[in-house]
Amino acid sequence: MENGRDTFPFPYQPYNIQEQFMQALYSALDQGKVGIFESPTGTGKSLSLICGALSWLSDFEEKRKQESAALLHEGEAALSTVTVPSSTSSSSAEPDWITDFVKKKADRDLVSKLKDEELKRKKREERLEMIRNNVQLKYAMKRKSCEDEEAIKLLQLSKEEQTEPQGDQEDEELIIAEYESDDESKTKSRFSATEEDDDLVEEHVTKIYYCSRTHSQLAQFVHEVQKSPFSKDISLVTLGSRQNLCINDEVRRLGSSQRINDRCLEMQKNKHDKHQEEGVKRKRGPAKSVCPYNKATALQQMRDDVLGKVHDIEQMLKLGRETHSCPYYATRLSVPPAQLVVLPYQILLHEATRKAAGIQLKDQVVIIDEAHNLSDTLSCIHSAELTGAQLCRAHSQLTQYSDRYKSRLKAKNLMYIKQILFVVEGLVRVLGGKVGQNPQTQTTQTGTEMLTINNFLFKAQIDNINLFKLPRYFEKSLISRKLGGFVEKYAGSGVSLHTQNSIKENRRTEGLNRYLQTLQSNQSTTPADQQGSEAEKVLSASPMMQVEGFFMALTNSNTDGRVVVQKQGTVSESSVKFLLLNPAVHFAQVLEQCRAVIIAGGTMQPVSDFKQELLFSAGVAEERITEFSCGHVIPPENILPLVLCSGPSGQELDFTFQSRDTPRMMDETGRILSNICNVVPGGVVCFFPSYEYSRRIVSHWEASGALSRLANKKKIFQEPKKANQVEQVLSEFSRCIQRCAADPGGLTGALLFSVVGGKMSEGINFSDDLGRCVVMVGMPYPNIKSPELQEKMSYLDKHLPHNGGKSPGQALIENQCMKAVNQSIGRAIRHRGDYSSIVLCDRRYARPATLSKLPEWIKERTSTHTTFGPAFAALRKVRFFLEKKQKQV
Ligand code: SF4
Repeated sequence: MENGRDTFPFPYQPYNIQEQFMQALYSALDQGKVGIFESPTGTGKSLSLICGALSWLSDFEEKRKQESAALLHEGEAALSTVTVPSSTSSSSAEPDWITDFVKKKADRDLVSKLKDEELKRKKREERLEMIRNNVQLKYAMKRKSCEDEEAIKLLQLSKEEQTEPQGDQEDEELIIAEYESDDESKTKSRFSATEEDDDLVEEHVTKIYYCSRTHSQLAQFVHEVQKSPFSKDISLVTLGSRQNLCINDEVRRLGSSQRINDRCLEMQKNKHDKHQEEGVKRKRGPAKSVCPYNKATALQQMRDDVLGKVHDIEQMLKLGRETHSCPYYATRLSVPPAQLVVLPYQILLHEATRKAAGIQLKDQVVIIDEAHNLSDTLSCIHSAELTGAQLCRAHSQLTQYSDRYKSRLKAKNLMYIKQILFVVEGLVRVLGGKVGQNPQTQTTQTGTEMLTINNFLFKAQIDNINLFKLPRYFEKSLISRKLGGFVEKYAGSGVSLHTQNSIKENRRTEGLNRYLQTLQSNQSTTPADQQGSEAEKVLSASPMMQVEGFFMALTNSNTDGRVVVQKQGTVSESSVKFLLLNPAVHFAQVLEQCRAVIIAGGTMQPVSDFKQELLFSAGVAEERITEFSCGHVIPPENILPLVLCSGPSGQELDFTFQSRDTPRMMDETGRILSNICNVVPGGVVCFFPSYEYSRRIVSHWEASGALSRLANKKKIFQEPKKANQVEQVLSEFSRCIQRCAADPGGLTGALLFSVVGGKMSEGINFSDDLGRCVVMVGMPYPNIKSPELQEKMSYLDKHLPHNGGKSPGQALIENQCMKAVNQSIGRAIRHRGDYSSIVLCDRRYARPATLSKLPEWIKERTSTHTTFGPAFAALRKVRFFLEKKQKQV
């Protein structure tokens, strides 16, 4: 078939929908499309993505090989043709012999280019073949034992060096080098390995970048690749942060990603300095420590090992420890020759991080999985927030730094430091405070203001500063890191005036940092995680990194973002926040440069706003977009979605803001749950629209006695407040259901109260008995009173076309609500043999526009009930069906 394939290598006979998925994916990649692919969880989406995409890649490579062989043949044939030289010109102004000469030269160039490419490809293939066949095993063992000894010695040395007393001369490391020019091309990537590693850098082959949200999702994907028929032939590398991949225990022990990065980079610089000092007599001071795992030959070997066999992060850490080479740098060296690069969102979607990781998107394929919240993720990654306390602290630290090293800093550095101090002072002024005074004792009037970037700069009186030069200075001078080192070294001796608040205020870090922190957890990244985030216990000593992020955000175009100035009583608690309104600007480059982009997810509905906001706004033409959505693999009778418009006593179910708190609504909800718990065996998961409402309704039931009536049927569990307790609650919930199944005379199972968008609405499966019924109480609309949401709505209304009589802002609210609902109800059915009922309690779910936003496979089976009786009868039938099914088992 044209632009396609009929069959695909697959570990088992694929379902029809998997075949259709792979065919659609293959065509999308072949035609260079932007594809939106939806395939419900439990339908084997990852395997379809792997087998579809890798089949295309291998066909593409084969086709390219054949084309170049044909071209080479043609070129060689042309070169061997003998032309008779002639001195006269035929029709053109040039003599024929010149035309022939030019043509021959072009042919020769083409032939030598093709030969060169062919040679490189062959070399690459041979090397991989050799690694895969373990020919090098003997050599590797020998090398390892030699290097073992050397590495142990170096490690010992590095420990000793770290404990050596450090004299004042060490401050050399803290002083910013001379800042010479604004020419970025001279800058070396902050994340690149040392100069000698340049030899290791290879050219980029055509590849697929696969990214997902959490490390556990990435690990699952790698395991699927290992099980696929491509596992033996594919070169795969997984990228992560130093926090994930560092094997130097001395450095890992530092805990926070910023401190690990700082220490690693410092050791690299020491290594570089050492090279420079070779042959030159050491000036003074103790030897500087270097990382023993960062050596060119070992890295090169590990790169080959990584490419020769599919490894997950754990396996790479093990390999790194065995071979004494750094997995972080080895994986970065593996990017150019790898065919499949697996990486978290923020490395791919954040331009600076992407470049630093050595990722080139030109003509490559990108697959973004779990992409239902892609717009929000892009906005989150590119937003930034600073508190008054952080600003004052940064100002104080930088002032002390420049005072201390005034005589040793070059004029240009002092000029830039002055500018940074000036801008920070302006930001504190906007918050109603003054630098140099304790921000905790400075009071401000409470209020929120939303400003365009230009108005904000004007208000802060910093509109005369060239804000584009400052981020470049930050990047090149590494001032944030130097300042961090300075504060760490001199903390306690007067530096860092406002440290008593450091832990608390650091919880509110700028967007990317916060996102990076949440990614460290294997749990999903949900707003609730961010709220209760306790992970950031030990962050950097200096908030300058956050200041750098904020400065960078201010370079966005005036129309693409807003600055929210939030005054909270004291300067310390007040904040400035950059809000990205147009995430398309940061996605446009990915869409433009890549050959094809696939945006995939279990529930991508509703896609209309997504297309408008992210694709059309980024300049993608309608004809480049292709959509694929498939049903579920479960038989139709395994799912029973019901819309309930009224409860058992006939009370209309109206969970609008005005009526949801009335006692009669809360009582009716209790009665619905009680009836459901009577007939549904195993686990029932009940989602409330917010933590606040969940708290109110549960305390109402407590007072009315409804809660104890529910507890007579099922053991009640509640979503924990802290993310680290989720696992414990889940395992108790699961154990309780197992116990109840084993003892049919007692409780019928367990009931879990959860919150939409909370810790249990994403990334957690309620498969089989854990979720035989999911109840959705009301509609989880976002808080429309939030100034940030209002700003986003008015931005969309101004910039996007109206659709079907609805304003884009209104559509955003409805889509956010239904996306959250779809995520929550999608928790229950997780595989082909699973079955569950879904009860949507609110008459508003019956509206056709709302129903249309459910995933296709749920929508087509949903029935709407204006009275409770028939709905309950349907549920009882399900029970009958389930019992029958259980008897059969
Ligand atoms: S080079 Fe690698 S192992 Fe060494 S400190 Fe840096 S990340 Fe850690």
